[in-house]
Amino acid sequence: MRRVGRRSPRPRVVIAGLGDTGLLVAIHLGPGFEVLGISTKPCLVSGQELGTRLTRPEVWKQNYLMSFGRYPRLDDVQVLQGRITDLDTSAQQVTVTLPDGDQQIEPYDALVISSGVANGFWRNDALEDLTSIRDGIRRAAEQIAEADSITIIGGGATGVSVAANVRERYPDKTVHFFYSEPQPLPGYHPKVRQRIEDHLERIGVELHPGHRALIPEGFAFDRFTTGPVSWSTGQIPFEAALTLWSVGHVRPNNSFIPGDMLDERGFVRTDQFLRVPGYPNVFAVGDIAATDPHRSSARNWGYRLVAHNVRATLKGKEHAMKQYSPPPYRWGSILGVQEDGLRVFRPDGSSFRFPRWAVQRLLFPVAVGKVIYRGIRRATST
Ligand SMILES: Cc1cc2nc3c(=O)[nH]c(=O)nc-3n(C[C@H](O)[C@H](O)[C@H](O)COP(=O)(O)OP(=O)(O)OC[C@H]3O[C@@H](n4cnc5c(N)ncnc54)[C@H](O)[C@@H]3O)c2cc1C
Repeated sequence: MRRVGRRSPRPRVVIAGLGDTGLLVAIHLGPGFEVLGISTKPCLVSGQELGTRLTRPEVWKQNYLMSFGRYPRLDDVQVLQGRITDLDTSAQQVTVTLPDGDQQIEPYDALVISSGVANGFWRNDALEDLTSIRDGIRRAAEQIAEADSITIIGGGATGVSVAANVRERYPDKTVHFFYSEPQPLPGYHPKVRQRIEDHLERIGVELHPGHRALIPEGFAFDRFTTGPVSWSTGQIPFEAALTLWSVGHVRPNNSFIPGDMLDERGFVRTDQFLRVPGYPNVFAVGDIAATDPHRSSARNWGYRLVAHNVRATLKGKEHAMKQYSPPPYRWGSILGVQEDGLRVFRPDGSSFRFPRWAVQRLLFPVAVGKVIYRGIRRATST
């Protein structure tokens, strides 16, 4: 067991999970702290835009599979690849299992838990190297490319994104989309649900509302399946060629988190400051954090708020902490970048579209690259 000492007299912030939100917390913490980000992956493997990842993996990788070295704001952040296996809040330290099997102890003054959720085969908490990550992305895209017909089960944003992108990319393939409610996208504004349903119909996705699938015994949602799908809602079984399950069976990555921090479903409880109740120097953000019914802090500037509140706590200015106030409806891009650009749906049901040229020349390089990530270096190799 290796014990790692502090490398400076500055307060030390440990970020448990360097995915979409942990990375942004690290970027936005600012100077004055020693920051350590711990990740099971050697680079950012974003949980966003599964539809693009499966249908245009080379395009997806340009924005969503990113070497940590491309973020100038991480230059002063220590990054450690490993899996956190224990959190000892009285000693204020985490234990990390490294890729070579050794264990290492890392102390903290403030801890940010951003370990996300496991979801299907595309998001997990396994230690992985870049080759295996790339192979997994390529294999899944090949399976989609080779199938004549794709079945998608589960009507959330992931299912919609895959259904729309497969149909747009491969107009000759049949795409069957099954979901249990009358319309896809529960949790989104009714106007958004209607608009997306119309869009899917227009592009030729075969819609099957009112179908709730029976989950095959012991199935962990970690791969495509083939063969018949049965329904608890009474319809006859459907003979599917290749099936993607996006039924929202997310599993919180909480194996290292003490039970008293978790709610009854295993997500980390938070107060209005995104702090874990009873632990003044522990914060949680992103998909692991039980902030609101939609657990939406990954996309509502939760990273900025946590970075601010960690700074306030470590400077003894807790009175300056900000409160999180999530919108009542989910929002976001849903379909990703399409031929005509990127449409973003607001919580109030309205939407706006960035034309494709603006996505390429303004949105990604300026709004995302400069404002959200505070700079991204050109790719050399990921
Ligand atoms: C800028 C931005 C824009 C977004 N836009 C949209 C949108 O338009 N539409 C939409 O639907 N959603 C959007 N999202 C939300 C997004 O889809 C997910 O909610 C987001 O990917 C969740 O991020 P996360 O950091 O919580 O989890 P993840 O990105 O999954 O990161 C968690 C990381 O922690 C690691 N980890 C897990 N356990 C351990 C452990 N024990 N030790 C070490 N590491 C561990 C995991 O392997 C993973 O790398 C957006 C998010 C962001 C940040």
